[in-house]
Amino acid sequence: VNNMDVDVAIIGAGPSGAIAASLLRQQGHKVVVVEKQQFPRFSIGESLLPCCMQFIEQAGMLDAVNQAGFQFKNGAAFRHQSRYTTFDFTDKFTPGPGTTFQVQRGQFDKLLADTAISQGVDIRFGHQVDSVDISNEPTLQITDEQGHPYQINAKFIVDASGFGRVLPRLLDLERPSNLPSRSAIFTHIEDNISDSEFDRNKILISVHPEHKDIWYWLIPFSNNRCSIGVVGEPHLLAHLTGSLEQQLLAIIAQEPDLKRLLANAKVVQPCATLQGYSANVTTLATNKFALLGNAGEFLDPVFSSGVTIAMQSAVMACANLDKQLKGETVDWQADYAEPLMLGVNTFRTYVQAWYDGRFQDVIFYQQANSNVKQMICSILAGYAWDSKNPFVKESERRLNTIVELCRELDVA
Ligand code: FAD
Repeated sequence: VNNMDVDVAIIGAGPSGAIAASLLRQQGHKVVVVEKQQFPRFSIGESLLPCCMQFIEQAGMLDAVNQAGFQFKNGAAFRHQSRYTTFDFTDKFTPGPGTTFQVQRGQFDKLLADTAISQGVDIRFGHQVDSVDISNEPTLQITDEQGHPYQINAKFIVDASGFGRVLPRLLDLERPSNLPSRSAIFTHIEDNISDSEFDRNKILISVHPEHKDIWYWLIPFSNNRCSIGVVGEPHLLAHLTGSLEQQLLAIIAQEPDLKRLLANAKVVQPCATLQGYSANVTTLATNKFALLGNAGEFLDPVFSSGVTIAMQSAVMACANLDKQLKGETVDWQADYAEPLMLGVNTFRTYVQAWYDGRFQDVIFYQQANSNVKQMICSILAGYAWDSKNPFVKESERRLNTIVELCRELDVA
């Protein structure tokens, strides 16, 4: 492979990289995407939020996604002991799509990447970014599929490498997350769920009966399979013994409703585990690079916000990058990092309040005022950047007011 000159080099062809590549191509810029794996490849992060459908549409990929046969999703269900509550994402405060899909990420990410290729994007699968130099105009050292090195000269680097965190590692931008380290154990099952009440159109989040900070996801797919996983701080999972599969099945058996629902389930994929996935950085962008999605900050999987944040960051970065490539000055802190953090920080408020129990009290409170429920539903549907929503703008204060109210009324 010969050395090449481009406007933008994108590292990674996951959702954030594919959306960014498509948008930059639409704007007329010369883009190359370097992706170290061959697609399809497994990725965790299978439940989407309706908000991200807007970004898929902007990238001209909506028809492809709608026609792919993924499992329809219209909300989220939560269970703790005998309490069960649902959020219908179409009944929300913020305008915009109210439904989305639950997707096998191997298939979904390949579909986005293939659609970007059909739009004219150059994606180099099996090519890996080894090092970068941003002391002058950025350069990237790449190894191709045959192990041959080559160089890309770019005006700008977009890091969409997800948990690969290429630029944070290479440019020493890593900063620890302020969230405690948690572990996830997960797999895919043939679910054989016979309960006719079970709603396949919603992700089911179950809280462990005794430990409110251990929770499970059950994400139905359209092929009679589900993604299932458990999340908790490592010391709370330390009593589990045996293989990962034995550990996962043992902790599922501790939640009576999941145990009943999955009585005939069969594991169809080796169980996997991830630990300490929350991460942060010192700088999200400068006039030479921008970090998208997980390559920047990753919070927590509980509200399925990862792909939405990844795509939102792609849209915001590309709008600024288009200006910069046309010769305008961009203040990457004020025009990219701060607006992006508005939504990330909203999710942070709810993630922290989920684990300390405050947000669970709101979620399981049955007589919620419908306006308040719609505002919270907007955030759960991914609209965490809508500053018209009081629960976005002043998330902590508003949430605490509602928490107090729910706790008082629940006792009464
Ligand atoms: P990715 O999808 O990770 O893509 C990055 C790509 O970069 C990969 O294909 C990789 O091969 C490539 N790459 C890496 N290094 C290099 C290199 N050196 N050179 C070239 N290419 C490279 N999100 C949701 O929206 N819904 C969920 O239900 C959900 N559940 C989750 C559960 C858990 C336990 C965890 C940990 C996360 C979950 N997430 C969820 C988050 C989700 O996985 C990520 O936010 C999402 O995949 C980020 O997309 P991305 O495009 O930024 O990166």
